Amino acid sequence: MFELENEFVKYAVIGDPVAHSVSPAMQNAGFMAAGLDERYGKYHVKPDELADFTEFARHNLYGFNATVPHKSALIDLLDEVAPAALAANSVNTVSVRNGKLYGDSTDGYGLETALKEAFDLDIADSRIVMLGAGGAAQATAFEFVSRQAAHLTIVNRTKSKAEALAEHLSGQSTVLTALGNDETDLIAQAITHADVVIQATSAGLRESDAPPLELELLQNAAAIFDMIYKNTAVLQYAQKHNIPCADGRGMLLHQGAKSFSIWTERRAPVAAMRAALDAALNK
Ligand code: NAP
Repeated sequence: MFELENEFVKYAVIGDPVAHSVSPAMQNAGFMAAGLDERYGKYHVKPDELADFTEFARHNLYGFNATVPHKSALIDLLDEVAPAALAANSVNTVSVRNGKLYGDSTDGYGLETALKEAFDLDIADSRIVMLGAGGAAQATAFEFVSRQAAHLTIVNRTKSKAEALAEHLSGQSTVLTALGNDETDLIAQAITHADVVIQATSAGLRESDAPPLELELLQNAAAIFDMIYKNTAVLQYAQKHNIPCADGRGMLLHQGAKSFSIWTERRAPVAAMRAALDAALNK
């Protein structure tokens, strides 16, 4: 059912949809800068094709990245999964070694590195407000807990999902709070005391989207990171009010760089990958 794009394509990204993905441009720049012959393609894989694709990958690829909606469904199809990926219930990087499939999650590392780069923020002892409790929030929130953030407040439109995520993450030193979008006084308080607000909802992907919360609640934010790599209403608000801010491309870059290192056991050529990513996103 799946076919190799050509003999050099040994890595790929899978998703549904996947046409928009800029990972091939970024990873191929990495392979070329590192002087490697392998290339990185993309496969449109629907949920009911995931098992077939993993078997195809087992016999034909060296590794692949997974994006929406496959990150948690993949877990049951792999031979081994890194403990941190299991805890995050999310795999975005699969390596094929001797016919076995190994799963990792590099989203948390990508976000942590992007926060350090954008705001010089260290997770340990920091206070974080995360907007959203979907796949992206789940994949990265575990990083904050394992890096011993002091306080993580999860704010979500559907409060029960924020509560379920907080419950799942409990048991470490990080103080966890779950809030619904309508608890505006508590949200404003948490944001005022936080080192960073992370926008991890999908609201803002389309220009017509309403913001994920009342923008005025962000007025006292120390810094805002939006996982979406577009100039969203949240980022425009931050710029207008001189709040330090960054979009999600740094996270995309560093999660991809970490995948590259896992597969090749080399340091990723980050500068070449960043330039290719910027060029692809600015097209
Ligand atoms: P998801 O699993 O579908 O979750 C969507 C989240 O957004 C849920 O928390 C949902 O709340 C919330 N939401 C959706 N519409 C909303 C609205 N109108 N108002 C308030 N909240 C709303 O999506 P995901 O996989 O977590 O992805 C979230 C975003 O992260 C996407 O934009 C994706 O592009 C981005 N992302 C970026 C990177 C990167 O490398 N930069 C990596 C991964 C993901 P409910 O629970 O109430 O539905």
